[in-house]
Amino acid sequence: MGYNCVVLVKQVPDTKRITGDVMNDDGTVKRSALPAIFNPEDLNALELALQIKDKYGGHITVITMGLPAAGAILRDSLYRGADEAILMTDRRCAASDTLATSYILSCAVKKTDYDIVLCGRQAIDGDTAQVGPQLAEKLGVTQITYIEELTELDGKTITVRRNIGNGWQKVKAELPVLLTVVGDANNPRVAAARKMMKNKNALTPIEVEQKIKAQNPDAEPADIKELAEHKCGQLADKGLLIKQWDLDTVEADLSWCGQSGSPTKVHRIQSVVLAAKESKEIEPTEKGLSDMIHELISDKIIA
Ligand code: FAD
Repeated sequence: MGYNCVVLVKQVPDTKRITGDVMNDDGTVKRSALPAIFNPEDLNALELALQIKDKYGGHITVITMGLPAAGAILRDSLYRGADEAILMTDRRCAASDTLATSYILSCAVKKTDYDIVLCGRQAIDGDTAQVGPQLAEKLGVTQITYIEELTELDGKTITVRRNIGNGWQKVKAELPVLLTVVGDANNPRVAAARKMMKNKNALTPIEVEQKIKAQNPDAEPADIKELAEHKCGQLADKGLLIKQWDLDTVEADLSWCGQSGSPTKVHRIQSVVLAAKESKEIEPTEKGLSDMIHELISDKIIA
């Protein structure tokens, strides 16, 4: 029968490369100083959607809310096998906290026809893991978090295995559902050469305009607009125009978006260095190691 999957993906700064040089004095990160990458667990979410499509058929739509540069991860999604990509971009989204982000994403997802919504468990920059669950609430669908395996899809019923830290739990639910996917769920496939050749020139309208501006620095805004419209028309004819939505397209209530929709207030950012308060010497003998392991088990540090 086939399943319509919507995958939410986020472009993030590569936080593995954070050094003192990329930090601002106020404790925030200079985002432009770090390479922008596909949020790692969103690649696992996309891979799970691709596996569903491989096995059962269906359609995969990828959505990102972000700056125009996030077009790069949409192209990457098309190279890996997504059918359709949508950039949700609007200056009025700026300063959105997770509540506003999930509201805006919910408005976008509601414009699609979906059976399964897939998110990464967590983004490596904001790091809250809140967006998936908040989005499920706003869509009014069942959420299953920490998915490490899709066990079965049978008609309108999905069975999955979720990681619960010290073990796993098998959960059955009726579609539609929202899944948040962990990094151990799968090994994301790489881009397919043929899909890459097909989609390498795919652009969003805002990227088209930026490109034309760069090529014609002295052109009048009206001329740029005309040239951009013409180019977008050509791309659309070839199926290479990536959809771009704003808050009006998704009929969002502006009071729920950006700063006005964000109750989170950051008062102070503090750099916390964790230091061990106590240390313990272990005899380098079998008994010493065995005692340590038993102590860690009884303290529930390891299972
Ligand atoms: P998580 O909850 O950890 O993400 C879980 C999953 O949700 C991801 O794996 C992905 O599948 C999905 N997801 C998350 N975000 C997106 C997205 N944007 N598009 C598609 N899917 C997504 N950030 C800015 O960029 N600009 C700002 O001006 C800004 N202002 C902020 C102001 C405040 C007061 C606060 C608290 C945060 C602000 N942020 C801003 C950060 C922003 O709120 C978070 O980055 C965003 O809400 C996602 O939260 P997260 O990164 O913790 O994602």
